[in-house]
Amino acid sequence: MVNKLSVLGSTGSIGTQTLDVARKHNMKISALTAHSNIELLEEQIREFKPAVAVVYDENRAQELKLKIKDLDTKVYCGMYGLLHAATLDDCDLVVNAVVGMVGLKPTLASIEAKKNIAFANKETLVAGGALVMDAAKKNGVTLFPVDSEHSAIFQCLQACPPEKSLKKIILTASGGPFFGKTYDELKDVTVAQALNHPNWSMGAKITIDSATMMNKGLEIIEAAWLFDMSPDDIEVVVHRESIIHSMIEFVDNSVLAQLGLPDMRIPIQYAITYPHRYESPVQSLDFSKISSMTFYHPDYDTFKCLDACKKAFKRGGVIPAVANGANEVANKLFRDGKISFLEIGELVCSAVDNFEYKESKTLSDVLEADKAAREYVYNCIK
Ligand code: NAD
Ligand code: MG
Repeated sequence: MVNKLSVLGSTGSIGTQTLDVARKHNMKISALTAHSNIELLEEQIREFKPAVAVVYDENRAQELKLKIKDLDTKVYCGMYGLLHAATLDDCDLVVNAVVGMVGLKPTLASIEAKKNIAFANKETLVAGGALVMDAAKKNGVTLFPVDSEHSAIFQCLQACPPEKSLKKIILTASGGPFFGKTYDELKDVTVAQALNHPNWSMGAKITIDSATMMNKGLEIIEAAWLFDMSPDDIEVVVHRESIIHSMIEFVDNSVLAQLGLPDMRIPIQYAITYPHRYESPVQSLDFSKISSMTFYHPDYDTFKCLDACKKAFKRGGVIPAVANGANEVANKLFRDGKISFLEIGELVCSAVDNFEYKESKTLSDVLEADKAAREYVYNCIK
């Protein structure tokens, strides 16, 4: 088992569940990072005693320094701090659980430092997939998927023979809180309604992404990169109960699925302990309590982000970064009460349709496209 973890985004939903896993197996922690929640970060530092703590927000980092001056933990801030935590010598595996493509530079830094990554930060792979996968290949680094669907696929793929035998990936989707609603019925939905996910408890951004189904669109692109598949061979199936976390179909039409309770600590733990399995903090599945499992086609007319993401990936170059950047801003504007729920999808579609194709060869190609997409959304709502 790995000895020491660096956890980027330790105060978030994935971060805190990663620390549950670390606690259960007495794993050591080299670094913990947060955006600004220094209250929770301080608790985590006192429990796990990492050498390094990072607070993205500089003022909050200064406050944390004072709070923990009785400890040996060194406090850093900003992107410099994140890059430091992402590349520490005394760390076997980086858990990347920050939200948003702000995780791109730290991901590339971890890869260049030849650190394997337990990878939750899907926006980074959507925006900079070519760069990240190229760098990982060059440096012999593995991204172990944390996202439950991608972990499910990765687990099923353990049964894949060496010759090419995978026919398609079947990504399951819960459908979110608005499954079955028509486009018109979603005109006036509130932030509170969109944050009310039926099966999963997650950070705010991904919960809204689940309601728009942008999350599934991002996951199509994430799966395309991680498993080297065309989006045409990635099928989305709505499975309301979130018991099957995804499936793969082989050329002989045999289908493998991975099942479990909807609890991220299973995929997080597998990403950390691969290829080994240990007891987890999650309960076992009680089949006597599952009365049925249902499956539906997604409603592409209502949830426009799904096709927008497929289209973005097919257009290629920087367009997925554009889709992601537009969504990051639109998602936040909706949460802040500045735009309606349906405007999120409209803005993402409009960005994907209107941006000119550009190659995505360098980090600055991606960063520029991301910035332009963000500006585009702000200009559209003016
Ligand atoms: P969250 O909002 O709960 O936590 C995000 C973490 O990132 C926090 O620790 C926060 O302090 C940190 N952070 C936020 N903005 C930052 C910035 N600008 N700079 C540095 N750090 C920053 O989010 P989450 O739900 O834990 O999701 C994290 C990632 O995992 C996302 O990419 C999400 O899509 C993915 N994911 C989450 C789940 C889930 O169940 N929560 C499931 C699958 C995938
Ligand atoms: Mg997922």
